[in-house]
Amino acid sequence: MTGTAKIRQAVELIRKTRPVYAPPLMTMERVRDDKTCNTLATDGIKLFYNEEFCQQTPLKDLQFILMHEVLHKWMGHPRRLLTTNKAKRGKANVAADLAVNSMLIQQGESLPTSIKLYCPGDSPYRDLPHGKSFEWYLNEMPDDDTNESDDVIPSAGEGEVNTLKEMNSAIQSAKNKSIGKHSATFMEKVLSDMLQPPKVPWQQVIKQYVSVAASNRKRTFSREARRDSEFILPSHRKEKKLAKTCIVMDTSGSMDDLTLHCISEIFGLMQCCSGVELEVVMVDTEVRNVIPITTERDIETVKNNVRGGGGTEMGPGFTYAVEHGAKLIICISDMYLDEPPRPPVPVIWCQVGNGYCTPTYGETVKVEE
Ligand SMILES: [Zn+2]
Repeated sequence: MTGTAKIRQAVELIRKTRPVYAPPLMTMERVRDDKTCNTLATDGIKLFYNEEFCQQTPLKDLQFILMHEVLHKWMGHPRRLLTTNKAKRGKANVAADLAVNSMLIQQGESLPTSIKLYCPGDSPYRDLPHGKSFEWYLNEMPDDDTNESDDVIPSAGEGEVNTLKEMNSAIQSAKNKSIGKHSATFMEKVLSDMLQPPKVPWQQVIKQYVSVAASNRKRTFSREARRDSEFILPSHRKEKKLAKTCIVMDTSGSMDDLTLHCISEIFGLMQCCSGVELEVVMVDTEVRNVIPITTERDIETVKNNVRGGGGTEMGPGFTYAVEHGAKLIICISDMYLDEPPRPPVPVIWCQVGNGYCTPTYGETVKVEE
């Protein structure tokens, strides 16, 4: 049987038993390359193959290697390899192999027996754990590791958006099939992890907003500051009024340490920006207490003067904040609430619990200690 026919047969087998991997295998152009390709390889667009290798490799192993190439494509390895040092590409290729073979093992596949593939848990990478990224494995590989691999061809490939679209449609069409469903479910989890926004520490998000609010002072046209100049130039004059931030604190439930920790962190962040005024507004269904925070001691005052306990309705707190000149609202809540109407100033939701509300406006940060 020719190599081409063997690939066709393996792809057919994948279509029947691991349907999630089939769509890219059926659309990728297959290019015979006996000169530079010893096995199979991909640049994320084409599938290169060595005729003799395909002829001699058992169908089951060929099936594994084809799925392996699909994962290189879906994980964007050709693109990610572009960012690695040229001299280290052989080693980076091994790291990419560790990542994709680990994924296949986690789906219950077995490593080929006719060819040696690098895999975590298997010699010489027996001690490496499963389920890590290409970059993670590359970082963990010892400096004197001389193993090399070459089936990922560095290339910008198809672009990330197209790859994610292809993955998603392959998952959706394979999810309802009776055979190979677990692979589709596994890949669905991988895709959802890939789509998660990168984790930014919540303090950093707040800091960005606070510094914008603090710098958002009115421009004034002033001659007095530039008495020597005959031109009237705009200058940033400090307004007497400070940029005010209101922490709207949901006091409907029990007061926990995380909320206090959150206020304390916000106060700490504000210390870095001059001209910021901070006020804690306690709200259950209406404003129950307002405490300005100017020193660390005021946070103790908040702790000892929590008022509230009724239902949850943050709207009155937002209204109070806007009416009292807040440039930024930070709402600390467990999120067991209905979203109040959108105020005309930016809102950060500091989530300290696992409530059902997913706000449709503002930025949500999950507060962790
Ligand atoms: Zn590979």
